[in-house]
Amino acid sequence: DKEALEAYRGKQTVTGDGDSVLLVANIGNPDDANVAAEHDCEGVGLFRSEFLFMDAKELPTEDEQFAAYQKVALRMKGQPVIIRTLDVGGDKEIPYLNLQKEENPFMGYRAVRYCLGNPEQYKVQLTALLRASAFGDVKIMVPLVTNIDEIRQVRSLVETCKVELDARGVAYNKSIQIGTMIETPAASLIADDLAAECDFFSIGTNDLIGYTMCADRGNSRVGYLYEVYQPAVLRSLRRIIEEGNKANIMVGMCGEAAADPLLIPVLISFGLGEFSVSAPSILRTRRVISEWTKAEADALTEKVMGLKTSTEVKAMLQSAAR
Ligand code: PEP
Ligand code: MG
Repeated sequence: DKEALEAYRGKQTVTGDGDSVLLVANIGNPDDANVAAEHDCEGVGLFRSEFLFMDAKELPTEDEQFAAYQKVALRMKGQPVIIRTLDVGGDKEIPYLNLQKEENPFMGYRAVRYCLGNPEQYKVQLTALLRASAFGDVKIMVPLVTNIDEIRQVRSLVETCKVELDARGVAYNKSIQIGTMIETPAASLIADDLAAECDFFSIGTNDLIGYTMCADRGNSRVGYLYEVYQPAVLRSLRRIIEEGNKANIMVGMCGEAAADPLLIPVLISFGLGEFSVSAPSILRTRRVISEWTKAEADALTEKVMGLKTSTEVKAMLQSAAR
């Protein structure tokens, strides 16, 4: 099987009809970019920047952050590199930030909420990202967005950072793209409004499934609810992709579900434009995408969207798998 997959190395990622989609990688640190490139990624769809913060004893400086982002930008040689700003809290703890203990950390002061609450600290990261954008196709992605104000505030901070960089005479991409993760039910429900103010979407199914189903994936007693095949989750995905496509922005997926061979025909039918997966999943995902024409994917998806339970959905996808 490994040998058969090698046939997909160096190939474009196309559906059975020859329509191109982008197949990019999820990475957690700059060295992962080499591994992803060895697995033939077409860019980076999610660089989880929190690892820079978690591996440190204090906040990484602008120069330290810049060095890490620039390294990935250069390694990808002009291919897109989506870097997500600090996604702290929930399951991701950073001791030196001294965050208060919360009753319910998954619904608490985390991710973009924490960053916007500490704008001077956030500006250090945004400035480092802007500087890296002079060395490749770097895009900024905001985690855990639930409302339009958050995107507007991030955009306004980026504008401030640009003015400061101009004053310092430092180069950056003046039209750097700013996009959002769609990983909360709120973001899904306002996807039309968000699409009007974002340059791209990337669907974070890991969190979206949990928040939609009110089920913690780490809790085995509710694991049967934590399923991408749940009709509520599938309708949410369909809606997000449709609204993004209507607004002509790129819609990608960087949650684990993007690499689920059972789900791929459904994602093709919905019109997903970018699949961001772990390095070892790249060639297999390219193969599965190539196995489905739009018409076949549409026919299967129409049947799947008429089903009422996750169990039925999964069974139908399994029986249709190539
Ligand atoms: C997600 O929620 O799907 C995602 C990609 O982000 P993370 O897994 O880092 O929370
Ligand atoms: Mg997430």
